[in-house]
Amino acid sequence: MTQAIRVHHYGGPEALQWDEVALGAPGPGEAAIRHSAIGLNFIDIYMRTGLYPQAEFPFVPGVEGAGVITALGEGVSDLEVGDRVAYAGPVGAYSEERLIAADKLVKIPEGVTAEEAAAAMLKGLTAQMLLRQVYKVGPETVMLYHAAAGGVGLIACQWAASLGATVIGTAGGKEKCELAARHGCTHVIDYKNEDFVEAVQAYTDGKGVDVVYDSVGKDTFPGSLDCLKPRGLWVTFGNASGPVPEFSALLLGQKGSLYATRPSMFTYAAERADLLAMAEELFGVIKDGTVKIDIAQRYGLKDVGRAHADLEARQTTGSTVLLP
Ligand code: NDP
Repeated sequence: MTQAIRVHHYGGPEALQWDEVALGAPGPGEAAIRHSAIGLNFIDIYMRTGLYPQAEFPFVPGVEGAGVITALGEGVSDLEVGDRVAYAGPVGAYSEERLIAADKLVKIPEGVTAEEAAAAMLKGLTAQMLLRQVYKVGPETVMLYHAAAGGVGLIACQWAASLGATVIGTAGGKEKCELAARHGCTHVIDYKNEDFVEAVQAYTDGKGVDVVYDSVGKDTFPGSLDCLKPRGLWVTFGNASGPVPEFSALLLGQKGSLYATRPSMFTYAAERADLLAMAEELFGVIKDGTVKIDIAQRYGLKDVGRAHADLEARQTTGSTVLLP
């Protein structure tokens, strides 16, 4: 048996229940791990509320964690009991111990702590996908990044700055703007108090940006499209304020022959070779100091309801970890 947080029905933070659950032994291709730290993600909220529906109830939420392997099933050859490992999916992280397909695990290299790995695995792989694959960011790139002071945001903005890009970030409030400026943003717009479209046009002399990374969704649509150069790329990858409303593809033509994509890290890292390559790059930039993992909040796993409420209320910055 082990202790875990489970969701028995969709709802608010009160839907997160502390339960005793069966653990069992790892089957073929599986590993048992004891969590050292668990990463909190906005996706966990979408799963709790039902925006991202789950196949069955009750389910253990959480998609990011780090820990130590305690047992291995048959047929796992590249990992050993005692290895420090991290993962970004599948769901089931809000637990003291769990079973997981071993091919989803990545060894945590020397020089990276378990807390950092739990705080950065899913968020950092997302940043890798956004900056290195969805759009290849480089010194010529002028980009807009919304929610720059958030978990994915602080990682992505530091990384983009190291690639030479001009990073225009948005954040809600003065303190978050200052934080984003210290983490790679060339310019920061307080989009709670300023019109971000006007500010972007001013910073770019009316030219617009090459790419917009938008995880805010409803509230920044369609403004994000108005920040792009002709033929620019709109990357809509989250719904923190609610999903983007339905729209006609004609809009992309009217706004300047724009490109649009809705990427998921889970698709980009689905193949083990891709997962390992993305993780190697991520751990590389953490180890060499290019990207510092800012763990701004820590909660006990039992207290995850409070962590969800704070994340939803825009009270957090950077990464949040849950400690079992
Ligand atoms: P964050 O730490 O970035 O938290 C979300 C932030 O969004 C808030 O801090 C807030 O920043 C901003 N925000 C704007 N409007 C709202 C609103 N109405 N309610 C709440 N927050 C709002 O979360 P994560 O780092 O965990 O995730 C960032 C985004 O990236 C999420 O949308 C998530 O779904 C997405 N994501 C997508 C992935 C993919 O593969 N497609 C993978 C991982 C994450 P501020 O106060 O500055 O506005």
